[in-house]
Order: sequence, then C-alpha cells, then structure tokens
Amino acid sequence: MSEEKKFFAVALDGPSGAGKSTIARNAAKELGFLYVDTGAIYRSVAYSVWQKGIDPKNPEAVAALLPELVITIGYGEDGLQRMYVNGADVTAEIRLPEVSLYASQVSAIPAVRAFLLEMQRDMAAKDNVIMDGRDIGTVVLPGADVKIFLTASAEERAKRRYRDLREQGTPQDYGVILVEIEERDYNDSHRETAPLKCAEDAVKLDTSSLSFEESKEKVLQIIKERLHL
Ligand code: C5P
Repeated sequence: MSEEKKFFAVALDGPSGAGKSTIARNAAKELGFLYVDTGAIYRSVAYSVWQKGIDPKNPEAVAALLPELVITIGYGEDGLQRMYVNGADVTAEIRLPEVSLYASQVSAIPAVRAFLLEMQRDMAAKDNVIMDGRDIGTVVLPGADVKIFLTASAEERAKRRYRDLREQGTPQDYGVILVEIEERDYNDSHRETAPLKCAEDAVKLDTSSLSFEESKEKVLQIIKERLHL
C-alpha cells in the first residue's frame, strides 16, 4: 500500500511590489523548500498573448490560445525559477513592463485561472513549497499549513520599485510607477474570479515600515512557529 507523503505548504499572498518574491525566495532557501513564483506562470501566458497580438481583455481570444501553450517550470543551477513556453525560455521576456499589465488583465479571465490551477497544485503535492501569488491561500492551496498576507502601502511599494529600477540602470518616473501599481492593485482586487484578498486564516504582515531583512525575519519566524521547525 502506498502511503502518500505529506509536504509542507506555505502560501504567501499580497499585492504587487510588496516584496513577496524576494522574501519567499530567501525564506525558501533558508528552509530548504521549493519556491514557486506563480506570478511568473501568469506572466508566461501574458507574454504569449502579447507576442501573438491578442487583446488581453478578450476572454474568448485568450481562451482559444490556451490549448496551444505548454507551460513548464525549471530550476537553474543557481536555483532560480525559469519559465518555458512550448520549450522556449521566456524567463527574461516575462519581466517586460508591457507584460506586467497584460498579466494583470489575462489573469482576470476564468479560463486562464482554471488552466493554471492544477499545475500549481501538482507542484505543492510533490515538494515542501513556499508559493507566492494572489490567491494561493484562498483558492490554490486553501489547506496550506501557513498563510501569510504580505502588504505595504502603494506609495512605499512604488518607492521600492523606483529604487530597484534605478539601481538596475532602467529608471522610471515615480508617478508612472505609482499609477501602474494602483492600476494593478485595482485589477487584482476587483476581478470576479479569485480576487486578491487576505484569507481569513492568514497572518497579515504590513511591511511599510520594515526593512527587507526585518520582513524576511518576520516571515521566517511565522513559518517556523507554525510548522514547529
Ligand atoms: O506577482 P507578479 O506581479 O509577477 O504577477 C503578475 C500578475 O499576475 C499580477 O498582477 C496578477 O494579476 C497575476 N497573478 C494572479 N494570481 C497569482 C499570481 C499572479 O492573478 N497567483
């Protein structure tokens, strides 16, 4: 008789730019868990929609593309998540600013969410995971062992993004960044299917006045306490 192995699942949700991915990646490394960036999966669909010139707000047109897409996740030697669409590595392309807005639009389409649901659950069934996204604690893994909702004010998130972009040598206007963040917040929290919201049993952590190190430590502390690690 085969006994199903139980893995730990940590759901880390929150709005764009709250620092989820950097914190989750670092925490996963420290705990030896697999880090799954689900935003990158939505971005891969968005990139394909963009590349094909499809209107991201047209549910029928986007749904018609889905059967053509084979989306896979790989992990490089550096441990970083890489995304593939039909075998092509799109890890860099999915970070283009155009793709961010497309991702927030295509992710509102129920067919897209249904298409990606099993893939996310399968990953959590095979490994100890920290999965970051918008609906992990509410829809994808409602039975997750730990749920954390990471947030920060829109202004603080825009400031952090502004600093990151400047450091990367691709500066953008602060006002433009703030408007984009607010637009994505609105899209993500007002869509009908799986909107961004804090699960009832999630620990809410506002990082507006915390440094990255402090936020990471706090997240690790919550996880370790809950999992008795
Ligand atoms: O996290 P990231 O900003 O890379 O995600 C890109 C977009 O994908 C988000 O704006 C959101 O609309 C969507 N998304 C989602 N559900 C998730 C992860 C991301 O709807 N679990």
